[in-house]
Amino acid sequence: MKVHLRVFVEIENLGKAMNALTDAGITGFYILEYKGMSPQDWKGFSIKEDPKSAIGMIRDYATDAVLICSVVDEERVDGIIESVEEALKGEKYTILEVPIRKIIVSNGKHEAKEDRAETWLLEKEVPCFYCGENAVQRIRIDMNKGKIWCTNCGAARYYTLKTVEVPGKSEGGK
Ligand SMILES: [Zn+2]
Repeated sequence: MKVHLRVFVEIENLGKAMNALTDAGITGFYILEYKGMSPQDWKGFSIKEDPKSAIGMIRDYATDAVLICSVVDEERVDGIIESVEEALKGEKYTILEVPIRKIIVSNGKHEAKEDRAETWLLEKEVPCFYCGENAVQRIRIDMNKGKIWCTNCGAARYYTLKTVEVPGKSEGGK
């Protein structure tokens, strides 16, 4: 069985969590940024129902957090969770393990396949090609297209990757 693994972490722990997940062998993931409050923080709160108060409350009290999601084989879940627990010792995090009954992926052209190249979103602090600042560069790889953009100046570069590994197909060489 496959499992949808959801790891909720505070934004400053994103790198640690990602590295732990990668070390444990996940092959793909997606990330959602969100504002969150833990049950302890939320306890006793009641908010006025007008949109301004609600949004203001979220801005003032909610924590910037990230949800990292990955689909993994059930046998690998325990190892992955251990790796995350080890990397995030003493930090706040929540892990949900959700069983998946079925996966249907359509690429729009051919018949549905279970295996598809995944979108990767990585961050790396290196000197920017444009502004030269040592700033976080976000890297996104989607099928055979790559994008790198600078969080300091916003400059972006696009790449077309020549080799895409597609399981079961060898065309394209190495
Ligand atoms: Zn830059």
